[in-house]
Amino acid sequence: MYFPMPSEPTALRRPTLHKIADLVRAGLVAPEDLAGLERVAETYSVALTPAVLDLIDPTDAADPIARQYVPHVAELSTGTEELSDPIGDAAYSPVKGIVHRYPDRVLLTPLLVCPVYCRFCFRRARVGDAEASLTEAELDAALAYVAGRPEVREVILTGGDPLMLPPRRLQSLIGRIAALDQIELIRIHSRIPVSDPGRVSSALVAALKPADEADVAVWLAVHVNHPRELSPLARGALARLADAGLPLLSQTVLLKDVNDSVEILDQLMRALVRNRVRPYYLHHPDLAPGTAHFRPSLAEGRALMAALRGRLSGIAQPTYVLDIPGGAGKVPVGPEYWDENRGEITDPGGRIHPYPGD
Ligand code: SF4
Repeated sequence: MYFPMPSEPTALRRPTLHKIADLVRAGLVAPEDLAGLERVAETYSVALTPAVLDLIDPTDAADPIARQYVPHVAELSTGTEELSDPIGDAAYSPVKGIVHRYPDRVLLTPLLVCPVYCRFCFRRARVGDAEASLTEAELDAALAYVAGRPEVREVILTGGDPLMLPPRRLQSLIGRIAALDQIELIRIHSRIPVSDPGRVSSALVAALKPADEADVAVWLAVHVNHPRELSPLARGALARLADAGLPLLSQTVLLKDVNDSVEILDQLMRALVRNRVRPYYLHHPDLAPGTAHFRPSLAEGRALMAALRGRLSGIAQPTYVLDIPGGAGKVPVGPEYWDENRGEITDPGGRIHPYPGD
């Protein structure tokens, strides 16, 4: 069952919480943890919107929504395998605001702020810095880089959360990208439909639609990790986007003690499909600093995917992927069904059958 939600006006009146003392007052953090968590907040940004606060049960010490946003002292421990730039954004950034990792697409990060700050974010060492937003001159340079590369067919707006841009600026940016001759797809990565759904206004939805004459599609990939995040407000935001004709995809991060169970993933993927969002990626968590407490093993992730294969229709199946540390790219990590050496194939129920393959 989903949690009951307050009315939208109530949710919109209250402030976003940034300070650990505010989290103590809200009953989300024990007073004795204040000093340790203030040290976490000195390194990694903190923000919980009213919409997110409304999803949290402060009496549940294992609340899966709180775990995603409320800081934890475990974040102060950085493992030797963890990296401040786990997927090598910097190594593949030819100009500020652009990451060019694959021939046919680039990431464009116009800003690095979000309405919430997820404790497992792979850009956690960078997000929250309002000063890192691109200036007009820097945006011009980033778009000039794309314009000069005919092999780039897709621009992925990410951040930070690109839907933090005021609708007029977003519309202008989408218009400038769509005007580049070779661009056929603009993809936007956002958590706002679930973390701050009130921002998905009619003006914002209108800003996402390119001009009728542009031969460019805009797709939105929504970051959702738990079925309870699909609150009535979030479902309303997704409906406004879908009704406007925007194709919707989902991205989910597999997180220990948040969604690492077949029942929760089953509920989430079914709820996404019901809300016209096609499950796209289930990400294995990146090696971001101070996030070991969120990472299941790859074997556990593969076992969950195998169990989902036996329960969900194809349209509800995400692809389980890993971004190779350092920036070498994103790859599916199974499970595999065909064993080439044995000449055997496994069915969705786990039974093995002979199949030579040629
Ligand atoms: S909303 Fe996205 S970019 Fe922002 S903190 Fe969460 S995961 Fe990172």
